[in-house]
Amino acid sequence: MSETPEELFARAVDALRMPPVQEWEEFPFDGEMRPRAFLPPVDTDEPRNGEGGVDCWSCAQPDEAFIWTNERWRLLPAKPNGLPVVVLLETREHYAEPGDLPDDLAAELGDVWQANLDRVAEALRSETAHN
Ligand SMILES: [Zn+2]
Repeated sequence: MSETPEELFARAVDALRMPPVQEWEEFPFDGEMRPRAFLPPVDTDEPRNGEGGVDCWSCAQPDEAFIWTNERWRLLPAKPNGLPVVVLLETREHYAEPGDLPDDLAAELGDVWQANLDRVAEALRSETAHN
């Protein structure tokens, strides 16, 4: 029998620990961080913003709002946060979770896009260095 939400909550509520991010050379933040408290399970989750593509901000954006688009993907600049670049890769079709991606898109995300995003970041670094 699988674990109920209440059993999972009871098991996990005091178990969450911060990973040792302060030891990671690449981690861009310093200072005390701590995990948030788990919220207890509820009977019905609040609908997620844009769930099912209804009133989804991203789906409503024109291609001009993105750094780059093709027939399957769109690359969104994130709000400035002090890091040199933050981009969000989205599918053009609305999927709620990575596990909902069809296999061809999931494969493209894992194999092709990891390399593409590295190239985009490098191009943006070079562009910034020359301006
Ligand atoms: Zn959407």
